[in-house]
Amino acid sequence: MLPVVALVGRPNVGKSTLFNVLTRSRDALVADLPGVTRDRHYGVCRSGARPFVVVDTGGLTGEEQGLDALTAQQVRLAIAESSVAVLVVDARDGLLPQDRAILDELRRSGKPVVLAVNKIDGIDEHAALAEFAAFGVAATLPLAAAHARGVDALLAAVLPLLPADGEPSVDEEDAEGGVRVAIVGRPNVGKSTLVNRLLGEERVVVSEVAGTTRDPIRVPLERDGRRYTLIDTAGVRRRARVEEAIEKFSVIKTLQSMAAAQVVVLMLDAREPVSEQDLTLAGHVLDEGRALVIAVNKWDGLPAYEREQCRKALERKLDFVGWAKQVFISARHGSGLKELMRAVDRAHASATREMTSSELTRALEQAYQGYQPPLVRGHAPKLRYAHPGGHNPPTIVIHGTRTAHIADGYRRYLENFFRKRFRLEGTPIRIEFREGE
Ligand code: GDP
Ligand code: GDP
Repeated sequence: MLPVVALVGRPNVGKSTLFNVLTRSRDALVADLPGVTRDRHYGVCRSGARPFVVVDTGGLTGEEQGLDALTAQQVRLAIAESSVAVLVVDARDGLLPQDRAILDELRRSGKPVVLAVNKIDGIDEHAALAEFAAFGVAATLPLAAAHARGVDALLAAVLPLLPADGEPSVDEEDAEGGVRVAIVGRPNVGKSTLVNRLLGEERVVVSEVAGTTRDPIRVPLERDGRRYTLIDTAGVRRRARVEEAIEKFSVIKTLQSMAAAQVVVLMLDAREPVSEQDLTLAGHVLDEGRALVIAVNKWDGLPAYEREQCRKALERKLDFVGWAKQVFISARHGSGLKELMRAVDRAHASATREMTSSELTRALEQAYQGYQPPLVRGHAPKLRYAHPGGHNPPTIVIHGTRTAHIADGYRRYLENFFRKRFRLEGTPIRIEFREGE
């Protein structure tokens, strides 16, 4: 399971800047106003040897009253869910009593703390570090998040503090066997209804005491003679205990189950417009390189006109994952489930498809002959040969010259060409260019 690292600190010290550097988040959110309240952000950091979930907790002021008390409570929950806390402080403000109060809070949690002294660009680093040495945090590191300086050292300090990893990698078969499937989606789209439907009503309730179980719940499933393992979906749990706080935390669980899965089923509600959250989830699947099936639920009894509207909206909004099969289902009535599981199988098969170097090189030659990349200062980039670079997602390594100048449009052309040629459905494809022979 992906471990969780919480970024904690007063407002305006640079947490969200660090978050964006760590997650390379596309929707960068950096506010210039002190004390702005905002939602927590979640992302996955893959820059180090081991990926982990990063939570930007928003901000503690160290004096928790009124609204701040609410934020403080959220931060505490985030800390409770995390393995390591990175306390970010502002070198330019120096050591403030609020920082001290937050540190005390972290120490009470018993979690390992890494102290990141941010904004050391253009100031005396040694003086800044010396001041914060008074905190007595063994791992105290200089950082300039806005310039991505000190990030590698920060990762080097954080990674050894993470708990050991017992997960099979995406390529490995599960001990239980079968394809690992995560069913994700916003609250109320019908995840538990689907899981119950798939499992059969009698074995539904998997109890869990709120907040104590750290391992993802895995449930074996057999259907039409094929084996699957359903991973830690909110739906596997009893609904009754789902309260606000826990519901919010399902973001972490969702990221973790996506990472542990081989195929992600993203569930949408046909009766609701496609939301920002749906798109964010799809974006995470894409970043993760996972195979994806989109299950559009509550299709039962939907008038023809609304079905048409829904299909159109999906096509438009989800075109960035246009390779993912959309299956229209009713979890309540059990319709479309055969097709859903077939799409899961296909996605998994595509994600693990064996492709030989000669097949790939032949396809590359044809693609190149059909349409060549635009000239760069009078010279055409040359693409010489290709070989496989891994599964989950299928990775194609292409060797050539001037490959750095190949535009996104051409990359997409190649991707589509390979996708058609090898009939890859339901999985992203990664293309890597290598310069030279
Ligand atoms: P947060 O409230 O803790 O999430 O802080 P933000 O990430 O929103 O940053 C607050 C302000 O500090 C923004 O104006 C950032 O541009 C600035 N900032 C963040 N990191 C650095 C840094 O490394 N150096 C400098 N000089 N400014 C920074
Ligand atoms: P979850 O929060 O994603 O696990 O969603 P639930 O499975 O709890 O379902 C939320 C609500 O949607 C419940 O009232 C379900 O009865 C309803 N629901 C789930 N699946 C369907 C479906 O296929 N059709 C219709 N009409 N309602 C559904």
